Amino acid sequence: MTKQNDLYDLVVVGGGINGAGIARDAAGRGLRVLLCERDDLAAHTSSASTKLIHGGLRYLEYYEFSLVRKALKEREVLLHAAPHIIWPMRFVMPHTRDLRPRWMIRTGLFLYDHLGGRGKLPPSRAVNLGQHPAGSPLRPDFTDAYIYSDCWVQDSRLVVLNALDAAERGAEICPRTACIGATRQGNTWSVKLHDEISGHNRTVVARGLVNATGPWVSCFLESVDGRHGRQTDKQVRLVKGSHLVVPRLFEHDHAYLLQNPDGRVVFAIPYEHDYTLIGTTDEPFVGDPRGIRISDEETAYLCDTVARYFQRRITPADVVWSYSGVRPLYDDHAANASAVTRDYVLDLDAVTGQAPLLSVFGGKITTYRTLAEDALAQLAEPLAIDAPPGRLTPRCPAATSPTPTSRAGSPRSRTTTPSCRPACCGVTPATTARAFRLWWETPAHWQHSAKTSATTSTPPSWIIYFGTSGLAPRTMSSGAVRAWACTSPMPPGRQLMPGSRTARGRLP
Ligand SMILES: Cc1cc2nc3c(=O)[nH]c(=O)nc-3n(C[C@H](O)[C@H](O)[C@H](O)COP(=O)(O)OP(=O)(O)OC[C@H]3O[C@@H](n4cnc5c(N)ncnc54)[C@H](O)[C@@H]3O)c2cc1C
Repeated sequence: MTKQNDLYDLVVVGGGINGAGIARDAAGRGLRVLLCERDDLAAHTSSASTKLIHGGLRYLEYYEFSLVRKALKEREVLLHAAPHIIWPMRFVMPHTRDLRPRWMIRTGLFLYDHLGGRGKLPPSRAVNLGQHPAGSPLRPDFTDAYIYSDCWVQDSRLVVLNALDAAERGAEICPRTACIGATRQGNTWSVKLHDEISGHNRTVVARGLVNATGPWVSCFLESVDGRHGRQTDKQVRLVKGSHLVVPRLFEHDHAYLLQNPDGRVVFAIPYEHDYTLIGTTDEPFVGDPRGIRISDEETAYLCDTVARYFQRRITPADVVWSYSGVRPLYDDHAANASAVTRDYVLDLDAVTGQAPLLSVFGGKITTYRTLAEDALAQLAEPLAIDAPPGRLTPRCPAATSPTPTSRAGSPRSRTTTPSCRPACCGVTPATTARAFRLWWETPAHWQHSAKTSATTSTPPSWIIYFGTSGLAPRTMSSGAVRAWACTSPMPPGRQLMPGSRTARGRLP
């Protein structure tokens, strides 16, 4: 059945961080927005990242000063806006004489400390590993290191919160809804949507269309009619990256940046209290990114990196979980995958009097908010957005307001403070935090979420409750936050479900 006459200012295709960020910004400016995501929110690249809000120390080697500066400035903004899902983290970079020289590392860290106007985070410093706790799990030949600051984020939850905020500002958020075609008809787009659950099709009309399909950006463009025969010369370069989760390799709360002889770096990050997250690889990828998995070669590469630095070796048998994603990098024709720019490029297909199409190439989770602002700035003229100038600047509500469900305090510190343990549960903060990943947001948000989707009904259980909102356990699991695990009582009738299976395997 096809339903006609739904008119929107903007249809955003793709429910990753970039699509959700653009939908949020557009809704914040008063536009009537629909976001469609054929799978689940954050189902792909945006939940497969290393989970860092960072400037990208490594990019300085490729002279990407403006990207690093932009990302470092965003790190401050996001840390301020969402302190409940973004936490400061210190990174230890053991010094290896035969790789990068000291002068290079000191210069890089000096720039990293000062390029982005660091406000809240401590500066970098050199440490003697013999006297610092970070030295104890390392092999004895590593005697000194550099420590610097960055941030860690619950990536998929950042996506969900942006989508929720967009919905609270009036956007219609449609997970499990594929865009199966779009036709330009003068000053509007006719956009065909397919509900993956009910099987129904629906056609909506939009004044503007955003292609935020990440790795599928070029593929989606091929399904669009009416581009005036115009083919963009921009392409994405797909680069696969994989991570391992292994039982905790070290006791302290610092992460490690490990340099490899091939010039690449691998992170070892404290993860969910009992685990260490190790990644990432950087491999050219061809094909459909859906359903990709880590290869034996990637697992071996990451295990070898750990063996190079840590006293304790890990083998594939130690791996409790792994995940892979594909970076949709803007193809700047760099010689190797690691050197391809991590900055984004926006392509606007707009002819006067015709409905605009904006495509997103590349980007990082860290820069999603500026990407959204830039996208709306490009669409302002063709869509005649008349938001007051102040709303197009960082004072835009989508820019600086905390994410809607933000609550004060650092969850990381709370979960490590025994006095903050939830007395009602009598279990450790880590267990409670993991359990609450299956319990998301406040009931008000669920009701709202349900309203934005197909049906609503009295939820007899959490499964049906989540089912009616069109969201899958994967989204649910990304929805909870540690802070709430320590501050919210367990709602009656809800089940704790640690160890539940998600799309990518069993949650640790
Ligand atoms: C291994 C790895 C590590 C990374 N680490 C970091 C990091 O530490 N920090 C950082 O800042 N960045 C990091 N990144 C980069 C970051 O994850 C990506 O830039 C970002 O997630 C891309 O988001 P996106 O919204 O463009 O794409 P996606 O998250 O892939 O979203 C695109 C969505 O579009 C949907 N879609 C496609 N076609 C259709 C259609 N026809 N109809 C409806 N929906 C459709 C897809 O289902 C998908 O969900 C990393 C990336 C990788 C792969």
